Amino acid sequence: MYLARIPAVARALFPDLVWRVPTTERLVHLTFDDGPTPELTPWVLDQLRANSARATFFLVGRNAATHPGLVERIRREGHTVGNHTWEHANGWRTSTEAYVRSVERTQDRIGGRLFRPPYGRITRSQRRELRGRFDIIMWDVLSGDFDATADGARCLRNVTRHARSGSIIVFHDSLKAEARLRHALPLALAHFRQSGFAMRALPEVGIRAA
Ligand SMILES: [Zn+2]
Repeated sequence: MYLARIPAVARALFPDLVWRVPTTERLVHLTFDDGPTPELTPWVLDQLRANSARATFFLVGRNAATHPGLVERIRREGHTVGNHTWEHANGWRTSTEAYVRSVERTQDRIGGRLFRPPYGRITRSQRRELRGRFDIIMWDVLSGDFDATADGARCLRNVTRHARSGSIIVFHDSLKAEARLRHALPLALAHFRQSGFAMRALPEVGIRAA
């Protein structure tokens, strides 16, 4: 069970997390979690390029270590990367010490100030350890492409119905999401382009510094 749109009350409870980037411009931030994945990330990059879109990839450290060429390609094509822990750690089931180690190990490879907790699960003490060094990026719109009971059309609707200026939208360039992503992403990109939304990467220097 998940909500395609995060309710304002959840966002208000955690003001030290970034849920959306308020702006008067017509733009959205697409994000892709859990890669890089050789079977899927190059295809995502091709789709983005064909639509003049820039995005942010929250990388699992061990995937980035296995596929450094893909990390380079992501950056070379004008996208940005963020830290998604080394092994996709669940913060609720990981000690703060181990969690921070996992983030730091990933950080040695990718740098930057962007961090997204896997599953959105992070404890108060983990937040306290990381928030000085990172902007902790959540989202306000979930495509739901990780949900095997949904289809691609549903994921597309989740995105197009709920996105607004400044939205942070989550997709996954992971094999688990592949069928739904391959349907929904090209149509979502066309939707934003046709409705005049720019698609921009989150800055690696961090939201507050940018
Ligand atoms: Zn993830």
